[in-house]
Amino acid sequence: METISIINAKDYVDQKVRIGVWLTNKRSSGKIAFLQLRDGTAYFQGVVVKNNVSEDVFKLAKEVRQEASMYVTGTIHEDTRSHFGYEIEIEDIELVGQSEDYPITPKEHGTDFLMDHRHLWLRSKRQFAIMKIRNEMIRATYEFFNKEGFIKLDSPILTGSAPEGTTELFHTEYFEKDAYLSQSGQLYAEAGAMAYGKVFTFGPTFRAEKSKTRRHLIEFWMIEPEMAFMHQEESLEIQERYIAYLVEKVLENCDYELDILGRDKEVLKRYTQLPYPRISYDDAIKLLQESGKFPDVKWGEDFGSPEETYLAEHFNKPVFVLNYPKAIKPFYMKPHPTREDLVVCADLLAPEGYGEIIGGSERATDTEYLAKQIEDAGLNKADYEWYLDLRRYGSVPHSGFGLGLERAVTWITGEDHIREAIPFPRLLNRIYP
Ligand code: ATP
Ligand code: MG
Ligand code: MG
Ligand code: MG
Repeated sequence: METISIINAKDYVDQKVRIGVWLTNKRSSGKIAFLQLRDGTAYFQGVVVKNNVSEDVFKLAKEVRQEASMYVTGTIHEDTRSHFGYEIEIEDIELVGQSEDYPITPKEHGTDFLMDHRHLWLRSKRQFAIMKIRNEMIRATYEFFNKEGFIKLDSPILTGSAPEGTTELFHTEYFEKDAYLSQSGQLYAEAGAMAYGKVFTFGPTFRAEKSKTRRHLIEFWMIEPEMAFMHQEESLEIQERYIAYLVEKVLENCDYELDILGRDKEVLKRYTQLPYPRISYDDAIKLLQESGKFPDVKWGEDFGSPEETYLAEHFNKPVFVLNYPKAIKPFYMKPHPTREDLVVCADLLAPEGYGEIIGGSERATDTEYLAKQIEDAGLNKADYEWYLDLRRYGSVPHSGFGLGLERAVTWITGEDHIREAIPFPRLLNRIYP
């Protein structure tokens, strides 16, 4: 007899197996007990029929409490009525760990309560589905960039300077010096691109943003590819191929999880069709003004969530907005060749209200220009000498972008709030558990 995982039950129909499980719920009458079971790979039902098992086993089936852990032994049957399609007819139960009164019962709980119990909430079916999809997206990310000839190059989390300005930084002590938690690995990725051509970083990033939105975390994971000898247009092609690849792989490998979440797969399929539309920032402003819905929108301002939502909904697909005003973008972006008030950049906006999932640009290559930009941004030039060296020694056109993993997970899973897209979310008022 083999010990198996629930997910493999389909290969063991009519065979006797043993599975290590937790009890998620149960229902019983005098003659039969239905145990809802999970093992981390899937959820299914165990049936215990009083007449077919020993008295002790039936008694145990009635005594085990929600979240008790046990080994069950029995025969796998098809179960066409259930979503999973298989169940186990239990012959024997070995209790491993009985459970105390479990706080998360099948009744409705408020968000604060669930967040206080995040370490247990992760066991629920929807959270399982989200984490599996997150995992698939990470797996597909490595696969995609490896296939495209990138190498993963890790950037430091403790840094001595602040690329995106100083307001949203976490400060800490570094022996006798100051240090900051990384807001982005980009500048280091640029050094990587100059060394190895095509690289991507993937790590946690931190923003001390005192805002409470459905799209912002304090700690989030970012994937930041950087490519040497590459202009913006080619970078956009990589970005859309990457997003389509993520969606395709989730459709291919997470069918069960998408069903648990009730995510519309036809909508997801639409996102695999390339190319994504491209619109200039100038035209995006016109579109918003002409819609009549945004009377206050003015050229020169960054978009908020309603504007981003409107733009992506207008195209019913992810849309690239190109070439924003220089004044609202970071110092390292390449100036536009014919419009000195613009930079060569693009944000990719996701439909269904999820907003910016990628921010990217071509990078400035001129040493003098960058040195001035650094000064104008009020940054300490000495901290950036190493970055200027990347231009001093064989500067090439190069481009890169950053995708917020949790933004993308929230969008692809169709969840309402980004807090469910990461195992232990860090939010403005929450650092426990
Ligand atoms: P936003 O406009 O939504 O605040 P941003 O322009 O400040 O985002 P970038 O610095 O361009 O963000 O970061 C690149 C990507 O990282 C974004 O496109 C988004 O996917 C993600 N991201 C940025 N800030 C956060 C955050 N606080 N929480 C989760 N993801 C984030
Ligand atoms: Mg921001
Ligand atoms: Mg933005
Ligand atoms: Mg951005």
